[in-house]
Amino acid sequence: MTVVVLLGGPGAGKGTQAPILAEHLGVPHVATGDLFRAAVRDGSPVGLAARRFMERGQLVPDAITIEMLLQRLSAPDAADGVLLDGFPRNRAQAEALDEALAERGSVVSRAIDIDVPADDLLERLTGRWVCRDAGHVYNEHTNPPRVPGVCDLDGSPLIQREDDREETVKARLALTLSSLADVVDHYRRRGVLRVVDGRQPIDRVTAEVLEAVDTIEGRAGGPADSAHPANGVDPKGGA
Ligand SMILES: [Zn+2]
Repeated sequence: MTVVVLLGGPGAGKGTQAPILAEHLGVPHVATGDLFRAAVRDGSPVGLAARRFMERGQLVPDAITIEMLLQRLSAPDAADGVLLDGFPRNRAQAEALDEALAERGSVVSRAIDIDVPADDLLERLTGRWVCRDAGHVYNEHTNPPRVPGVCDLDGSPLIQREDDREETVKARLALTLSSLADVVDHYRRRGVLRVVDGRQPIDRVTAEVLEAVDTIEGRAGGPADSAHPANGVDPKGGA
């Protein structure tokens, strides 16, 4: 079973690369958000548990997220492996995933980090304005209106949502990137990390992402059963 984890900050381009990578690997693309929606829709016990948290606007606890993920990994279409997108999002989840996979005699074969510096992400994530009357969307960096502050289509004023203000985005981004750095470090210690420079043109990023999985040991020739993790370091072990 080939388990690949795709990592990257918000705006780093994971959404573009994930479907291409999943198709290349021939495994399902499992995004955490889809997982939640499917479990809630199916009305499974774990889905109902997740819904109670989501309805209160709270984060779904790691244990529930992991149980949903394990159910997904048991589905017939995931027999050969899976591409995880949006999970793990912190060190605790990464460790729980390792333990759960170990019980199945499996490991994370490869983690790919699409790396984009925080300042570049901030520029990609901010500058979003919408028009007051119809909600037409602009971006001051990539898709500015012809006249600043005015909608091209209907002339109504452009406003910025609280969620899109630079201070809000910056604070949220800092939290996300801090957890991401822990997860990246976890896989670096395990010896399965590949870092791809996400500032390159999209097709270049794609080429490097695909190359990162083509070097997974045992995947190209024989069965994709990597029962021998390439971890020289035990992250839990004391000195
Ligand atoms: Zn408009």
